[in-house]
Amino acid sequence: MDFRSDTVTRPTPKMREAIANALVGDDVYGDDPTVNDLEQWAAQRHGFEAALFTSSGTQANLLGLMAHCERGDEYLCGQQAHNYKYEAGGAAVLGSIQPQPIENNPDGTIDLSKLAAAIKPDDSHFARTRLLSLENTINGKVLPMSYLAEARKFVDQHGLKMHLDGARVYNASVALDIDVKEIAKHFDSMTICLSKGLCAPIGSLLLGSKEYIAKARRLRKMVGGGMRQAGILAAAGKLALTEQVEQLKVDHENAKHLATRLNELSGFNVNAEFVQTNIVFAKLDDSVDISGIAEQLSKQDIIISPGNPIRFVTHNDVSRQDIDTLVEKIAASL
Ligand SMILES: *Cc1c(COP(=O)(O)O)cnc(C)c1O
Repeated sequence: MDFRSDTVTRPTPKMREAIANALVGDDVYGDDPTVNDLEQWAAQRHGFEAALFTSSGTQANLLGLMAHCERGDEYLCGQQAHNYKYEAGGAAVLGSIQPQPIENNPDGTIDLSKLAAAIKPDDSHFARTRLLSLENTINGKVLPMSYLAEARKFVDQHGLKMHLDGARVYNASVALDIDVKEIAKHFDSMTICLSKGLCAPIGSLLLGSKEYIAKARRLRKMVGGGMRQAGILAAAGKLALTEQVEQLKVDHENAKHLATRLNELSGFNVNAEFVQTNIVFAKLDDSVDISGIAEQLSKQDIIISPGNPIRFVTHNDVSRQDIDTLVEKIAASL
């Protein structure tokens, strides 16, 4: 049982079958029918003109930012944003794009007044502010729909584009019980990770206008992301979106159950208000030796990432019973 992340999910039996049977061609020549099908289907499904299949969410974000911004441009984002904090500074290193991070509120939103204050005037001293990048879900939290509408109004007023790091956007749509298009419609571009809770082994999507995706496709080649017979991956990727979304509801219920059970343990404090999808953070009292507990658990083939707060992620490959086992084993080693 691995509670570190939903990236640890293995491809489903159906995916392995689709991988074995996928029609393939050289995707750099545009000849892979399975990649083409995924890209066309995904564009339509999410309300965009075009889509690009990428090797990872990090690459999709990098291409997404670089296709919006030139050298010396800047994007606004949250301090907690994955594409600021956890992508090795790629936009700055490879795109010469300056990030302008702003603190996230506890619910994951960023105050529009703070964003407005960070927009640079047109003056040769400053980078050119081009883009607002949001993330949904962010640390497992769902951005309110009203906030997305306000953010759209805000970027339109200020002549900015708006990108969504939607690595877990399906977790957001499932939690809100709305179609993913309702979230996507506010954005000029969006990424989706197929390789997290949705179980595909590899792959993400970048979505946007035809012109934007054409630019991103060139950039993908530039960073070495042009793949050849990638249909074996795209075949699994399509099943991620057509077969695995339902599972997220179960993952979310399991996360709530885990949160409740953890709160019964002494020294574990979960703010249940923020357990909205498949991620649970627990603050630990000083009395809890989490490294020792992790070591005990690992001897029993249970993997957690020690830390304070500690993060647990539910997914297709951990069941309700696994969660009960985890909590019992933690209780036994307290
Ligand atoms: C995981 C993740 C990414 C990056 O995806 P990789 O496929 O791991 O590169 C981007 N954004 C968010 C919010 C993520 O959780």
